[in-house]
Amino acid sequence: MAATHSTRMLILGSGPAGLSAAIYGARAGLAPIVVQGLQPGGQLTTTTDVENYPGFRDVIQGPWLMEEMQAQAEHVGARMEWDMIVEVDLSARPFRLVGDSGAVYLGDTLVIATGAQAKWLNIESEERLRGQGVSACATCDGFFFRGKKVAVIGGGNTAVEEALYLTNHSHDVTLIHRRDSLRAEKILQERLFKHHGIKVLWNKEVAEFVGGEGAAGLVAMDLKDTTTGEISRIDVDGGFVAIGHHPATELFQGKLDMDADGYLVVEPGTTRTNVHGVFACGDVADKIYRQAITAAGTGCMAALDAERFLGEIDFPVTEEEKAEAAA
Ligand SMILES: Cc1cc2nc3c(=O)[nH]c(=O)nc-3n(C[C@H](O)[C@H](O)[C@H](O)COP(=O)(O)OP(=O)(O)OC[C@H]3O[C@@H](n4cnc5c(N)ncnc54)[C@H](O)[C@@H]3O)c2cc1C
Repeated sequence: MAATHSTRMLILGSGPAGLSAAIYGARAGLAPIVVQGLQPGGQLTTTTDVENYPGFRDVIQGPWLMEEMQAQAEHVGARMEWDMIVEVDLSARPFRLVGDSGAVYLGDTLVIATGAQAKWLNIESEERLRGQGVSACATCDGFFFRGKKVAVIGGGNTAVEEALYLTNHSHDVTLIHRRDSLRAEKILQERLFKHHGIKVLWNKEVAEFVGGEGAAGLVAMDLKDTTTGEISRIDVDGGFVAIGHHPATELFQGKLDMDADGYLVVEPGTTRTNVHGVFACGDVADKIYRQAITAAGTGCMAALDAERFLGEIDFPVTEEEKAEAAA
């Protein structure tokens, strides 16, 4: 028979948001269970150099950082379950979730930290050169391309913002878009077109990311003209795919409030969703910052919000106390 796991704090996701919530939840005595999902450690396990997570003077490795975070969470009392949630019932507390393994998870509170995956072009050379010149995050990796030639692929707000951000590091930024106009907001387009360090290549899509000899990483991109089919090559050291993100929220369709792009909506300044006792943190509720440090920060907030919520249920304020406080 499949196991049933009960906890005061059930956490979905084991990236920086979920594990930070686990550390705070465990230290508050809530014995959290973390359901890790298909990617234990989250997105940072897919990268190598991380240079912007505070506390480390030297460049650290993403997978190592996440191993340490998990070890810290376990050390203070959080429990990891390697399972993938496939069913959710938020209609009553304890919330009832079912894993792919058949196990049932009951949580007095639920912290959702399922992240948002970057969309990729899904071509073989992109996969091969990921982390070796091909990236999906200019804020994360732009710094590694100081003084080098870089290109951004996309035509929406993210692509334009990434191109503008990269001008902090590079005087040679190319935006590549497969259409002849951008989808980005007008104000961003104006800033982009005014910038001397950015050129735009219209009607082009990436046919191939080209690697150099040996371990040289990305050296060029072959571009296909979307109107003529002609192939041309540009030399670049860094290629940033900026065609959007996909928040992992399918499970919560119709159950929790989401914005038009599928990100969970939280009450501003908190991690509270529209269902009492359910909290969202990290990239799944953040389409702006999407960094490990912000995910960890909101993970901490989610645990504190959940702890407060449980306190209010366990020790409800009496009418007398309310009147006293109001006086
Ligand atoms: C290649 C790359 C490089 C990056 N480099 C940096 C960097 O240098 N610095 C930086 O600050 N940020 C970087 N980022 C961004 C950073 O990784 C993310 O902002 C951060 O990981 C978000 O954390 P999160 O906990 O919200 O979600 P994620 O890290 O995405 O974790 C989501 C978790 O949810 C789990 N999950 C999903 N669905 C389910 C389910 N149904 N049931 C159970 N679990 C589920 C997954 O298994 C995973 O464990 C990088 C991102 C990428 C892709």
